[in-house]
Order: sequence, then C-alpha cells, then structure tokens
Amino acid sequence: MHFLRRRQVLVGIYRKILKQSNERDCSWNSVIVTRRTFFGGKIMSRSAAESLREGAPNGSTKVTTRFDNIIKSPEDNRSYRGIVLTNEMKVLLVSDPTTERSAAALAVDVGHLSDPDEIPGLAHFLEHMLFLGTEKYPNENDYSTYLAENGGNSNASTYADITKFYFDIVPDKLEGALDRFAQFFIAPLYTESATDREINAVQSEHEKNIPMDSWRVRQVNKSLSNPRHPYSKFGTGNKKTLDEDPKAKGINIRDELLKFQGRWYSANIMSLAVFGKESLDELEEMVTSKFSQVVNKNVTAPTWPESPYTDNETGVRVCVVPVKDTRSLTVTFPCPDLEEFYKSSPDKYITHLLGHEGKGSLLSELKNKGYCNNLMAGYTLAARGFGFL
Ligand SMILES: [Zn+2]
Repeated sequence: MHFLRRRQVLVGIYRKILKQSNERDCSWNSVIVTRRTFFGGKIMSRSAAESLREGAPNGSTKVTTRFDNIIKSPEDNRSYRGIVLTNEMKVLLVSDPTTERSAAALAVDVGHLSDPDEIPGLAHFLEHMLFLGTEKYPNENDYSTYLAENGGNSNASTYADITKFYFDIVPDKLEGALDRFAQFFIAPLYTESATDREINAVQSEHEKNIPMDSWRVRQVNKSLSNPRHPYSKFGTGNKKTLDEDPKAKGINIRDELLKFQGRWYSANIMSLAVFGKESLDELEEMVTSKFSQVVNKNVTAPTWPESPYTDNETGVRVCVVPVKDTRSLTVTFPCPDLEEFYKSSPDKYITHLLGHEGKGSLLSELKNKGYCNNLMAGYTLAARGFGFL
C-alpha cells in the first residue's frame, strides 16, 4: 500500500470519515491511508499566504490566519477554507450545500508511543473516556444519544503518534453535535463509573485482537525492536495494564488520564476538519465559537528520530505460526521519516520497482515459479521520525 500524498488525502478524508463512521471497531494501529488525514501546515502552502485575509468575516478576532486558495480538483464543487484559530488550532472547513450528511474530525498529535512506561494503553483508554460526559453535557450517553437520534455515527482511533475522533450526522444537526464534540477537548469529566466500564471495553477490544494474525505479527515485531524505544511497547492496553497493575502500584488511573490530557491535549497540536451544508463563513463562525476555548499549552508534538530497529535488532528472521491457514513473507527495512520529501516521494521509486507486476518483474518471476500469488511493496510512516519500507 502506498502512502498517500497530503493533497490526495485532503479531499479523500471526507469520504473516509463517512465510511469509517460506520465501522464500530476501535482500531488504533497504523493504517497508512488514514493516519495522515489532516494537513499539518504543509497543505496550506506558503504561497497560499498570498491570499491571506486578516480577521474573520464578521470581524471576529478568533482567527489569526485564513487560506482561501486551497488547490482542489476541477470536478470538485465543494468550497474549502483553512483557518488557524488564535489558540493555534488548525481547521479545514468544507462547504457543500448539497450534502446529505455532515461530519467533523479532530486529530491530536499524540498517541500510544507517549504512554507512560508503567501504564501501556493509557492514550487509547483516554480516547475511549473522552466520549463519556463533559461538564456542559454530563450525561455519559449524551453524545451517542444525540448522534443516534439524528442519523449519526462516531468513532475514534489511537495511533502511534496521533489520536483521531470523528462523527457524522444529518446536516441540520451539525451544530448540536459539534458543540458536544468540542466539549471533549475543553472539559471532560472522566467519571469513576465510566472509568471502570470502559476498562472492560478496552479489555474486550484486546481479546478480539488476540486471535487475529495481523495483530499478533505486529506485536511480535514490536517486541523484537529496541526495548528502550517506545515502539516496543503494548499500545492497546487491557485490564491488566490499565487496572490491575496500576492498582498494585498504587496508581490512580483517573488521575493519570487527567495528567495525560493536561500535558498533551493542546490546541496547538490539534487539527480539525468540519464538513457541512453551511457556507464557509457560517462554518467558520460555528467552529470559532466552539473550539476557541480549547487551551493552547504550547506543546511540541513528540517525534522519535531514532529507528526502533538498530544494528542489534536487524538481520533477524522470525517465524510465526498463524492462527488462520495463511502463508506470507514480509521483509522490513527501517527507514527514516520521508514526510518532508512528499513531493518527490523517493520511496515510490523503490516500491514501484519492487511492486511492479509486468513482464520481467519480481512478481512475474515468483509467479512463474509458483512461489506466490501477489506481492505488495510500500512505505509506512510508523510515527513522526521513523518509518518502514
Ligand atoms: Zn478502542
């Protein structure tokens, strides 16, 4: 699978949001297509600053920067605008008066690689807990009920270095859903009763993963990496890591949730995308009125420039007995973060040659010999700082 360029992803995210909203599983692993769904500043190119207009349409001072010349397909009838709020949250607004569904997604640049060593799975657990009651909407089921009553869906995913939250809903109810959604990042409650229940939800998720070969192989690979690198940790978490072990050590898990959110959930490392039938000016007003309260703690998003596989961990062959009757061979090379080279995509030269399927290709030769049916080559940015080829 190839890594999508940001520009491709920009337009693709909305279809992805709508599609994923119907999937109830809460996977946190790296999925190449979905992990970079938000512009990180680069999609708003420097040249876009030429069209910068200061101040919001209504004279609001909640927006510091606005980009109205985002490049899109000539066939795309939607209108786009990028804004940066005064709390440094980056926002992409998309207006489509004909839409039959509205949606929003927020990503924060922190994930399970930032879990405290003694609490594997804390970032994922926090992702679960955010949904369950806020000071403004204290009822634990308020958000899910509101969405369910208005044809909506929601989900969230915790990745190595990013956590994403998203929902969709009938267009008339976007504002109500967005108000509830914004409060997750302003004043979540983390009630004791919800804490206990959601630990069981994470445990169920873990149990669901245990018989899945993809999860087993992923965790084997992580276990074989440098034990001093956070990549080697267990990111999903379960009842043992989130309840039993912390209790045995006298750690209050709710206090740790508050600490983690207090440290990392900062507006300046958040990106928001909102898609609705309203005009761009109306969407902008909606967003600024609801998300400007998210605190900017001036956090630097963590990066891991060192590969989790050093000379000590490479040159290793591992055999895994699969649960299903399946056979595959994966060859992995540690690779630097190629994000800054997205325009030239050097990885594509290599993966194109290796993954080519025409005459004289590696695949055609292997097929001739009856060794394999298909072959994939791709680059994965595992987290900011390192990837795999
Ligand atoms: Zn989950």
